[in-house]
Amino acid sequence: MAPRNNATLTRRKGARIIPRPKPLMDLEALANERLIDAAMADELRPVAERFSVSITRPLADLIDRHDANDPLALQFVPDVRELSADPLAVPDPIGDAAHSPVKGIIHRYPDRLLLLPVRVCAVYCRFCFRRETVGSNEAAALSQAELDAALAYIRNHKEIWEVILSGGDPFLLSPRRMSELLRELERIEHVRVIRIHTRLPIADPARINATLVNSLSLAKPVYVLMHTNHPRELTADCLNACALMIDSGITVLSQSVLLKGVNDNADTLEQLFRKLVENRIKPYYLHHCDRAAGTAHFRTSIATGQALMRELRGRLSGLCLPEYVLDIPGGFGKVPVNAASVINDDSGVVITDPSGVRHPYFE
Ligand SMILES: *Cc1c(COP(=O)(O)O)cnc(C)c1O
Ligand code: SF4
Repeated sequence: MAPRNNATLTRRKGARIIPRPKPLMDLEALANERLIDAAMADELRPVAERFSVSITRPLADLIDRHDANDPLALQFVPDVRELSADPLAVPDPIGDAAHSPVKGIIHRYPDRLLLLPVRVCAVYCRFCFRRETVGSNEAAALSQAELDAALAYIRNHKEIWEVILSGGDPFLLSPRRMSELLRELERIEHVRVIRIHTRLPIADPARINATLVNSLSLAKPVYVLMHTNHPRELTADCLNACALMIDSGITVLSQSVLLKGVNDNADTLEQLFRKLVENRIKPYYLHHCDRAAGTAHFRTSIATGQALMRELRGRLSGLCLPEYVLDIPGGFGKVPVNAASVINDDSGVVITDPSGVRHPYFE
């Protein structure tokens, strides 16, 4: 007869339930974990009332309590600077509302749209451009009727070639609901490609388990875009979660936001991009930080981003280089802004090489 503890082990494995430790979702929890000074809680209360707070255990474990400027703390721990006057802030920085024909859909480009099935995240990034619409004050997920209406919109627009699940974090859907949603999309013939934007491999890698990954297995290609900003986010658990997806046939890409104090130097970006490529993840976009409310302390100038990109171009394999993009405030679309190397004016074209030397180009 098998020993009792063996039986328990087998049963646990069969259930495939991973108990997740509770995230830290209020200032008291953050103070208990020494992520904020308890004396600061009162000052931070208005921040937490305005913008959602959540830090998952795996991320909390990565934060260095002894470094006030720790790049992971800066990204996730609420900060009084979020309430500073911010004259450049735009309420809906990339113009989502103007392009939302039905609830949960943002359709700005003819061939592709965003479908936002959930409006909550596992972790709340302090610089998020959707920070006014994601979080605990919103309904967590689309209702079945809303989801049906969104799917009907996609069915009725034959020009939609790609559906991008974004959020909130779509991977917070249960594997069963994820699977149902993907089957619906799979049935729509003109939808050829499915993309999923997520931060979960960083925030809570254990949730990217075999059940979730199985739910992503479709006849249509699935691309996963992981949001990551700092090489320390790429833990062994995170990279194993990505490997699980890649080994099952999913293409994994990354997107990052250029953030002052977090990754606005060539060494940090170099480490981040190399580590991604070493793990079969292609850096796709480096976003210029959007002008969301209370994020002024994260913004760099575009010139800073261009100089970084030029330096990286000289140091790194092209495989490691994302496109540096800006979402034009107001919803006018994303444009590449890494072209500091080309000046094209009345006097002709001048191209600056990676070491900063200018070369006239005749055409
Ligand atoms: C960013 C974005 C996309 C995706 O753009 P790509 O350049 O294809 O990555 C699509 N729709 C909206 C509304 C977006 O903001
Ligand atoms: S995970 Fe994405 S949507 Fe959620 S808070 Fe962070 S940046 Fe915003």
